[in-house]
Amino acid sequence: MNINRRHFLALPGGLFLANTLGCSSLITAQPPKRIIVAGAGIAGLSVACELSRLGYEVVVIEGRDRVGGRICTLKEPFTDDQYVELGGELIGDGYKRLLGYAHKLNVGFEEVPAETLTGGNLAASREGINTAAIFKQKLYPVNSIMAPHPYPLTGDEAKLLPPALLSKYLRQMLQEVTANPSRMRELDPLSLADALRQFGVSETAISLMNISLNYNSIETVSAVSPLLDAQRRASAGTKVCRITGGNTELVTAMARQAAKQGVKFILQANIRKISYTSNAVKISFRDNSGRINGINAIVTIEAAKLVCTIPFSVLREVEFSPPLPPAKMKAVNELAYTSITKIYFQGSRVEWDRRNLGSSIWTDTPLERIFTAAGKRGDARGIFTAWMDGEGSNIADKMSDEKRQRWAKNEFEKALPFMQGAIVSTHTKSWANDEFACGAYAHFTRGQFTTLQPMLKTVVGPIHFAGEHTAEKSPGMEGALESAERVVAEVLTASL
Ligand SMILES: Cc1cc2nc3c(=O)[nH]c(=O)nc-3n(C[C@H](O)[C@H](O)[C@H](O)COP(=O)(O)OP(=O)(O)OC[C@H]3O[C@@H](n4cnc5c(N)ncnc54)[C@H](O)[C@@H]3O)c2cc1C
Repeated sequence: MNINRRHFLALPGGLFLANTLGCSSLITAQPPKRIIVAGAGIAGLSVACELSRLGYEVVVIEGRDRVGGRICTLKEPFTDDQYVELGGELIGDGYKRLLGYAHKLNVGFEEVPAETLTGGNLAASREGINTAAIFKQKLYPVNSIMAPHPYPLTGDEAKLLPPALLSKYLRQMLQEVTANPSRMRELDPLSLADALRQFGVSETAISLMNISLNYNSIETVSAVSPLLDAQRRASAGTKVCRITGGNTELVTAMARQAAKQGVKFILQANIRKISYTSNAVKISFRDNSGRINGINAIVTIEAAKLVCTIPFSVLREVEFSPPLPPAKMKAVNELAYTSITKIYFQGSRVEWDRRNLGSSIWTDTPLERIFTAAGKRGDARGIFTAWMDGEGSNIADKMSDEKRQRWAKNEFEKALPFMQGAIVSTHTKSWANDEFACGAYAHFTRGQFTTLQPMLKTVVGPIHFAGEHTAEKSPGMEGALESAERVVAEVLTASL
């Protein structure tokens, strides 16, 4: 079925988010220069806000039944007004674009005081600050001296927790690439493990660092990926901010603003095919809402341009006609995405505080790292997040959600026996199993910085590419907004 003006007018209003957000107007005319935005994550929402403000007719097509993509605040099943972020969490005070939207849209945000860092604990754990540890089933509170070390480690390897040790070497590598930028390309064919071996790091230390790495494997990730990420994080500022009520507040406000400016949202629309000529695109999606032509009907919508923010991990399953140029297709097919699985436990935090466990525990258990994700010292309850990436995540992802929660609760109580009977609810999120993400975020495996990176943002005919995977200077959510800014400029300069 082709979708045209007649169908827009005939569609039940509920299909459009615009209606649920209080904007009653459906499309009333079909100007020739419609732009479709694929994906209502923060990149797509920003593109929609800016292009509609500039007078373009914008239609956003989104596979999920909500906006925000990898930004999603989870409030249920938790009590005590506590909540967690399933995806994008930490906001640096250098996130000028993101905080600019919050300011403009009257969405509250506040700085998180360092001493109460809960949501901010990932940054701290990266440096091994305020972090406890479990090695070989023994719990070491924050700032413990491990002598003798439970593993055969000596010198700094024994003194620093694995994330802090990795940070030490990354700082040295960063100094090298800052002094000699062409070093990046020399490092790209090396895995991070091989680059560390060149510093004389022991195999034991490398395998322990692998546990808390935000990539799939220390043996496959390019040595360049953590350096690029460190450079991007440096641009994110020094303090951690938090959106009041959770990050979903921001993306919802952006969607509301876009709808007010006339943007139409089609939710539960799973894009399956993108056909294009030099100056037009046809997008075919499976309508999972059942409101157009019955459940699973294939609907086609046309436009002059497409801004595609779909992660490449998902886009590789979408048919292109004609196929994308080979180098672009290779980037879409091969770009690596980190698997991340989280399990949330809400329960008493009295014992956690009493034992001085700080804002996170680095562990050599299958749960990998455990963060305090909500609540602060002195609160009766808190939410603790077990965070697994890469190989650890793959094991957990093979289980059903229910089985994973049971398994993880058992592991949690084994690791922290004083938490037995203290957990009141659990929840889990696998980003690799999420059909609209197929992973948490993009990274480069060996050699991909050289071969794939130049192709990530290249325009193909009327198709522009945005999203965190195409960002170059800023991390995560701010990177997604950086990409949106670039694409809006591209669209403005291209002759429509
Ligand atoms: C576990 C985790 C922790 C993170 N922590 C941080 C952090 O602390 N700080 C930070 O800055 N960033 C963090 N990030 C990264 C941040 O969340 C992302 O970079 C950002 O949200 C990506 O936005 P985006 O718009 O590029 O992509 P997305 O949010 O993924 O948007 C793409 C949209 O496309 C839709 N889509 C996909 N396929 C289709 C299809 N076939 N048809 C229609 N629609 C489709 C998706 O549903 C989605 O809504 C984290 C991410 C994860 C997963």
